[in-house]
Parts: sequence; C-alpha cells; structure tokens
Amino acid sequence: MSLPRGDPRNTPPASEATDLQQLIDEASLGLLRLDRRLIIQAANAAAHRLLERRPGTLVGRTAMEAFVDHRMEDVIRRAMAADGGSAASAGSELRVGRDRVVVLRARGTAGGAWIALEDVTELRRLQRIRAEFIDNLSHELRTPLSTIRLLTETLAADMERVDGTQGATVTPRMRDRVAKIDVETGHLVQMVTELLDLARMEQASTDLTLARVSLERVMRGAVERLRAFAERQGVVLELEEPAGGYPTINADEERIGQLLVNLLHNAVKFSSPGGAVSARVASAPRSVTISVEDHGIGIPRADLDRVFERFYKVDKARTRGGGGTGLGLSIARHIAEGHGGRIWVESEEGRGSTFSVEIPMGEGGA
Ligand code: ADP
Repeated sequence: MSLPRGDPRNTPPASEATDLQQLIDEASLGLLRLDRRLIIQAANAAAHRLLERRPGTLVGRTAMEAFVDHRMEDVIRRAMAADGGSAASAGSELRVGRDRVVVLRARGTAGGAWIALEDVTELRRLQRIRAEFIDNLSHELRTPLSTIRLLTETLAADMERVDGTQGATVTPRMRDRVAKIDVETGHLVQMVTELLDLARMEQASTDLTLARVSLERVMRGAVERLRAFAERQGVVLELEEPAGGYPTINADEERIGQLLVNLLHNAVKFSSPGGAVSARVASAPRSVTISVEDHGIGIPRADLDRVFERFYKVDKARTRGGGGTGLGLSIARHIAEGHGGRIWVESEEGRGSTFSVEIPMGEGGA
C-alpha cells in the first residue's frame, strides 16, 4: 500500500516510510484510501484478504466494485460530507463470500476518504450463540414456571375451600407462604419473558415492523396501561398535550409502546406516594423526542451510564412495589437504537429523573 503523500515536510525518511508501509501491510485491519470519485488509490494486504481479492487487485477499482453493496457508497459519501467526521452506521456491515462479516468505517478527508475494515465474523457468531442460548433457556424455563404458577393458584383456592371443613384449618402462615410463592413465581415469569424479548431483539435487530405510527395513540395507550399501577402507588400520571399536536413517525408501534411502558413503569415505581410523573413529546424537523419525567428517588451520578446495561440495578433493596429484573432499560435501549435513535437519562439523586428517547422521523413522518 502506498502512503499518502501530503505536505513534503511530513514525508518520513525512506527507511521510516518502508517501516510504516510494512506495519500497515501487517495490520489485521483492512485499510483503503479512496479519492473523491470513490476510486481506490491504496489498499493494504488485509483489505484484499477481508474482501477476498487477489493481492494488488483493488487499486483503481470503484467502491461499488470492491464492496459490491451500494449501502457502502452511502456510508462513505456520508463520511465525506461530514468533513473529517467518521460514519459507522447500522448499514455499514458488509457480507463477504459465504459467511464473512466485515464492518466498514469511513473517515472523510480533503482528498476523499479513508476506510477501515474490521472482521467481526467471530464476534457475530458468539453473539448469535449467546442469544440462542438465552432464547432456548427462557423457553425451557417458561413451561415449568407456568405450571408452578397454576398449581399455586389451585393450591390457594383449595386451601380456602377446605378451611374449616373436616377439622382442617389453614393458618395465616400457610396462606402467607403460598402468597409469597405466587409473588416470586410472578417475578420469575416476568424475568424469563423479558430475557426472551431481549434475546429476540438481539438476534434480529431488523425484525421491526415499520409503519406510520401516530404517537398520540401510542402515548395514550401506554399511559392508560400504567394508570392502575400508578393509582395503587398513589402517583399522579399525566400526559402533556403537545402545542402543535402529536407527530406521526415511521416506527414499530408495538415496540415503541413497550419502550414507553418500561419508562413509565420505572418512573412510577421509583416515585413516592403523592409524586407526579409526566410524559411529553417534542418535535424537531427530522426527529421526535419523547420524555418521561419523575420527581422520585433519582439516580446517583456514578450509576447514570450503567442503568441501560442488562441486569443493572442501582440498589436492589430500594425498589418499591415489587422487584424488577434490571432488563427494562436495556430492552428500551435496544428498541431506540433499532429505530436508529438513542436514549439517555438526566437525573439528580433525591430530586427525580427524566428519561428521553429521540427517534428519527423517517420517511413518511409528519
Ligand atoms: P428494573 O426497573 O426492572 O430494575 P430497569 O432496567 O428498568 O430494571 O432499570 C434499571 C435500574 O435503573 C433500576 O433498578 C433502578 O435502579 C434504575 N432506574 C430506572 N428508572 C429509574 C427512575 N425513573 N428513577 C430512579 N431509578 C431508576
């Protein structure tokens, strides 16, 4: 691969240049330099190997000829437009040959773009195995758990029926124990269901069913679903009406609804009785931002980055109204990112939290 020739003052001495060249050729990362017409000017050995080309055959070819995928041209053009910025988006994963998966990262320069190619075949294989394992495990656990739940319900009913008959007495302790088994199996069933959801979403981030979605319907629906829980917790749940009306976005209605329910559920769960939770949406020209604000216990600064990790809980002891699984927010993040959006939180311990989700409007949005 030939080195870029820029300012002569920056040109390294000959031996240094040979060293550098050797280093670039030894690198496991594929490196390519393209001019503004997207014609390859230089490519190292790894680039040829990753794209399954014979050594020395890439220079002079166009990006389309090299990658055989028009989405890569878009990624490179976007990086060039970003002027020095890099673009590694969801569409930058390239399939080569039978089963190789390569991620392409592009950085725009004055003369064109630099491309780095990374082989992620093994990583994707391990991710798939992990997701399949969780999927299988959750399936296997769900059946016996449902049976235990059913048996507990039957047992509780039987206890009520026999109590006081034929000298049988059901003590408060027995009742209490059966009720506890019921609550704990309920938590297990919820955890297994959420694990299954997460595994499914990780396995196929493309399984979103996109359509034009009225945020009014989604937001009202989610608030209604949480109404009874909020009342039980003594929390006031409010939906703020947007001044310019509700926007329509290109999204998977069920998933966005699930995301909102997760955020609202947490907001209510971590509020004190008498507290208020509000949900609102703000529209920008190309995106919408949905926020859920509470005035509850808040999140310590040190935990802010970690709450979106799976199974992460700030403090296992402090949850009111039943334990959680620590999966709700990682599911929410998956849904947001699956839509090309992002999720973040602003919070102050003791004062409350605001979770926000930004979703691009997409084609057909209004
Ligand atoms: P779960 O609520 O089931 O524990 P989540 O993934 O939804 O799991 O949330 C992870 C953790 O983030 C929670 O256990 C809690 O510590 C913290 N958290 C989430 N939402 C809030 C909130 N609105 N206020 C305070 N803490 C929160």
